[in-house]
Amino acid sequence: MNVDGLNVGTLVWLMTVLDVALTLPSTVRIAGLFEPKYQGQKMAFQQAVDRINKRYDILPHTTLVPEVREVDEDDSFHASKEFCHLMKGGIAAIFGPMSSISAAHVQSVCEVMEIPHVETRWDFREQSEFRSINLYPHYSALSKAYIDIIKQLGWTSCTILYEGNDGLIRLQELLRAPSESQLSITVRKIDTAFTRPDSKPDYRPILKEIKKRAESRIVIDCDYTKVQDILKQAQQINMMTQYYHYLLTTLDLDLVDLNDFRYGGTNITAFRLVDPSRPQVQAVLPAWKRRNLIPSMQSIQTETALMYDAVHLFAKALHSLSAASDVRTKSLSCSKAQPWAHGNSLLNYMKITDIDGLSGSVVYDNNGQRSNFQLDVTELGTGGLEKIGRWDPKKGVNITKDYNKVKQQVKHSLKNKTLIVTTVLEPPYAMAKEDPDGILQGNDRFEGYCIDLLENIANHLKFNYTIIPVADGQYGAQNKDGEWSGVVRELIDRKADLAVASLTITYLREQFIDFTKPYMNLGISILYKKPMKKNPELFSFLAPLSVEIWLYMIAAYLGVSFMLFILARFSPYEWYNPHPCNPESDVVENQFTLLNSLWFTIGSLMQQGSDIVPNATSTRVLSAVWYFFTLIIISSYTANLAAFLTVEKMNSPIENADDLSKQTAIPYGTSMGGSTENFFKTSKIQTYERMWNFMESATPSVFTATVPEGIERVKKEKYAFLVESTTNEYTTQRNCELMQVGGLLDSKGYGIGTPRDSPYRDLISNAILKLAEEQKLQILYNRWWKEKGGGGKCDTEDNKKTNANELGPKNVGGVFVVLAGGLGLAIIAALFEFIWKSRKYAKEEKAWGYKQKSLCSEITSELRLAVKCNGGSSRPSRKRRKEIEAEEMNNIETNGLTMMPLTGNYAPAGYPLPPSSKDQYS
Ligand code: ASP
Repeated sequence: MNVDGLNVGTLVWLMTVLDVALTLPSTVRIAGLFEPKYQGQKMAFQQAVDRINKRYDILPHTTLVPEVREVDEDDSFHASKEFCHLMKGGIAAIFGPMSSISAAHVQSVCEVMEIPHVETRWDFREQSEFRSINLYPHYSALSKAYIDIIKQLGWTSCTILYEGNDGLIRLQELLRAPSESQLSITVRKIDTAFTRPDSKPDYRPILKEIKKRAESRIVIDCDYTKVQDILKQAQQINMMTQYYHYLLTTLDLDLVDLNDFRYGGTNITAFRLVDPSRPQVQAVLPAWKRRNLIPSMQSIQTETALMYDAVHLFAKALHSLSAASDVRTKSLSCSKAQPWAHGNSLLNYMKITDIDGLSGSVVYDNNGQRSNFQLDVTELGTGGLEKIGRWDPKKGVNITKDYNKVKQQVKHSLKNKTLIVTTVLEPPYAMAKEDPDGILQGNDRFEGYCIDLLENIANHLKFNYTIIPVADGQYGAQNKDGEWSGVVRELIDRKADLAVASLTITYLREQFIDFTKPYMNLGISILYKKPMKKNPELFSFLAPLSVEIWLYMIAAYLGVSFMLFILARFSPYEWYNPHPCNPESDVVENQFTLLNSLWFTIGSLMQQGSDIVPNATSTRVLSAVWYFFTLIIISSYTANLAAFLTVEKMNSPIENADDLSKQTAIPYGTSMGGSTENFFKTSKIQTYERMWNFMESATPSVFTATVPEGIERVKKEKYAFLVESTTNEYTTQRNCELMQVGGLLDSKGYGIGTPRDSPYRDLISNAILKLAEEQKLQILYNRWWKEKGGGGKCDTEDNKKTNANELGPKNVGGVFVVLAGGLGLAIIAALFEFIWKSRKYAKEEKAWGYKQKSLCSEITSELRLAVKCNGGSSRPSRKRRKEIEAEEMNNIETNGLTMMPLTGNYAPAGYPLPPSSKDQYS
């Protein structure tokens, strides 16, 4: 909407300007106390005043008059004196000084006089308690930023190097962290007592101590002016490599010349408050640089920027206050307690005003603290310090760097770089080539699985390498003092970039070094001499069947023979007339006497047969089942006997680790300084604990300096060696007198070791995965295990033979069941035969004029006859027996006596024989 050519906005602005013009004097004095060290702040103060005086939107009719005074650092007396002097002329605010002692004095005067005190220094006191305002970010929020970045970086341990006690307050959140997280922190004060010949502090002793502890993550809290010197000294002791990560708490790392460290690959991270790319900064920076107002190459010191912002905040607040009240400065005297009436209001206005300054947005919370601010996360790259993310008190760290780009950068940096590779000389992983003339040089001197693996990886990632076998020949174990040995030590000391050996990935090692993905899987096993061959035994023919089976067979043989005998006696069809021409013969005969039954059964068991032929269905059923039984048993025996005769039984005193642990006759041990030793040392499993106790106390020592030494010991002595299965397999394939005893005690893998935080680890892991996918790892394995150096020479027929086991009830038990079933069937058949025949006899006897007996008494009498021990092969025919019976009955009646039937052994009940015929028929 237009009102006579002016819009409403312009009108409001004009009214505000007019209003301000009415309530403010034409000049307002503001004081600044500056120490020589902070010339930048003094310049920023003056520049900011100049800038505001030129602006039309803030204090358009008022000129700020800067009253600048220089005071010495920590000279509180001089500072207070200057301040009192300035107050006499009337001032609206005092800026500075920076040193804490002087600032405290000035602040106490401000308390009384109610003059706003504007500060731009780090201070851990709560501002709400004083009549001052501080533009420096609040210490607790800053402290949170440090813990946030450490969490983001995933550090599990770090060392804090601090210069002054303020540093500990700055890092208080971090120092509290270990109680909540897994972070382990070591705190060291930067000791400036040691000096170098150029009389500068010597930081190397403390740095060396950190290096010795294998710490690679270091937080440095010091003034930015000391950073370069510390990093330079770190570089001198080789602590500025890709394996180290420094987090600097200074917000002014932009002001440090880091050119010397740009290509070392060292990780340097820091926060900054003043982003040089911000438009506000860009608006002033070139002009200040041109006029040589700032010493910096790139950016503005934080405190300088804060001073510039402070003046702007003050001006804006004064502008707002003047719209509400008539603000006039007043001459005050330090000797009288007469406060300035507008001081409190002006301070309050400053706390509710916000500006977008060089240090970002300046906003105050309810407590009058600048706790809501944003920081840039910066990292040193090859192009200098780069912004990689942002920190915000609410959202924490937000890293925006492109990790793919980082990966590509690392890959690029690896190209044509020469890495130092440590290894352990142990067949077939890494071995010295035979070189009688000594012509081989460098890496050509070595061969083996790991050497080939390394070559493949190097070809893939295009780096060069120098192989240096580890001096002590060990893989790496920690001694009582926590010192590591072997290749692990080399990596901890960063003497090597890679450890390519049969290095087992373990939890403990992982705390000190990094591992790539595993390239081979294995477990601990026992290496021992092959047992002596057993001398063939005299009765080895018994071996194919177990003792149980032999006993059951004897029982079955006796049982079947006896049953055959009984059934044959019981069954009427087994009694035949020995005189076929005389059908009226008085005698019948049975071929199945007890001896004949035993003979018939053994004959069939031996696959020979006999003249005895069963006639009755019952005896035939039993015979058939017995034939079946013998067929199965004999076939099984024959088959198993063949296996037993071809297999040579080994006499092995130990079958597994448990056997080993329960004896002391065969000493056993491991190689020293490796994961196998550590496995037993730390095991909580009873068997392995027992083994460790034995190993530890054994004399002479059962430990060997190296793995090959252990293998030699197995060959020469009575000694079992606990070694990894891969080595075990390699050894047993070349030394046919050795073998692996039992299975694996655990399961783990070999990986390539790198120093902690190595940028190359992921690239090498990827290369390993690729080689595995392309089956190159398998090809390498076949080459070194199976093809080279006589692999597979022990795979002769002898070694391939498997063990033969005796047959037990589980194998042939079924045939016994069939036999038992057959027995039952034969008994039933015999009963049927008997009943059938009894009915026939009953009719005949009736025809002969004899009284018929009941079926039950017939069965009973026949059974008695059958089981009678004196079972001969003949007996009277049925007709004759009836006659004898009748004669006996007559005799009894004639003598007037009633005879009881004879039930003794020699006379079947119901058929008492006359004494004269007893011998003949029994
Ligand atoms: N490969 C093992 C290791 O890394 C050696 C051992 O058997 O102890 O320690």
